[in-house]
Amino acid sequence: MSRFRSILDTMPAYKPGKAVVSPDGRSYKLSSNESPFGPLPSVVEAIARAATEVHRYPDPGAVRLTETLAERFGVPYDHVALGAGSVAVAQQILEAVGEPGADVVYAWRSFEAYPLLVGLSGANAVEVPLRDETHDLDAMAEAITPETRLVFVCNPNNPTGTVNRADELTRFLDRVPENVTVVLDEAYREYVRDADVPDGLTLYRERPNVAVLRTFSKAYGLAGLRVGYLIGHEPVAAAVRKTLLPFAVNHLAQAAAIASLRAEDELQERVETVIKERSRVREALLSQGWTVPPTEANFVWLRLGERTMEFAGTCAAAGVAVRPFDGEGARISIGDREANDVFLTAAEAFRRAS
Ligand SMILES: *Cc1c(COP(=O)(O)O)cnc(C)c1O
Repeated sequence: MSRFRSILDTMPAYKPGKAVVSPDGRSYKLSSNESPFGPLPSVVEAIARAATEVHRYPDPGAVRLTETLAERFGVPYDHVALGAGSVAVAQQILEAVGEPGADVVYAWRSFEAYPLLVGLSGANAVEVPLRDETHDLDAMAEAITPETRLVFVCNPNNPTGTVNRADELTRFLDRVPENVTVVLDEAYREYVRDADVPDGLTLYRERPNVAVLRTFSKAYGLAGLRVGYLIGHEPVAAAVRKTLLPFAVNHLAQAAAIASLRAEDELQERVETVIKERSRVREALLSQGWTVPPTEANFVWLRLGERTMEFAGTCAAAGVAVRPFDGEGARISIGDREANDVFLTAAEAFRRAS
């Protein structure tokens, strides 16, 4: 028998998601927080152009994309590090800090990848429960020990959509020892409209141990191409570059990301559309009688407890795939108007029946 690391026994085997289709053939994917819009024509063009060059390896340093990001955010070139999706960047930083005896602190429930990636890195996961569906930053500061190497702060939090604001974040960061790296996971930053939620880059600029994790998968609409990045000070960014698999960020992804940064005004309009739909969906749910935490991301969270899987089943019967966490709740992405309306009808039927 082949032998494997014991951590693998604790990890679920990958199960392919079943396609959700209603009896009349409708299918809406509100389960992965993707952009409901197809790629912009200028981005498709850049991908098509790059497609003629894929007999060559990609630029391993992704120099043009790194330069474009550095310029876009006004940070030094050396402070930008890439990966095949920000999930991969998270894995790279964990690979750089993780070993037996090292602790990694994060809130729970939060992004599903954290426990898996921390486990794989060899580090010990320290999970700090949410309070009122929000990161409990005081408890997280208290969970830091001399063994702590890294803390994830997911802002807005996936799957609850809640945020931590400037004053509490500053108070938290003041309590974190300077040899502990804080990764602000801002996968949904583009959707934030609460003026009291700081752009993580302002926090990173003043603090050598703070880094920001961002992705092209969500607001930029490139989930299928896999590109994400970290902006952090030189030692942190260098560690992420060292743990990058050679050529992991492929040529099409590099070209599409550069083209997307050039088309930010157009992408911004799409984000505004999603934000308007977010308000509409949340208000409709509230008027149906649901409790819905205020959300600054492109999804809403319903804490359904024991009824979570039943709710997901009701949505699936209407052709809507949501993301259920058994026994806890369901996360529903904001889609286009039609998808949202079908979801709202299913949610209302569930409420009436309960
Ligand atoms: C979706 C998501 C990511 C990243 O996704 P990639 O597609 O790997 O860039 C990272 N963090 C959070 C919290 C997310 O929800």
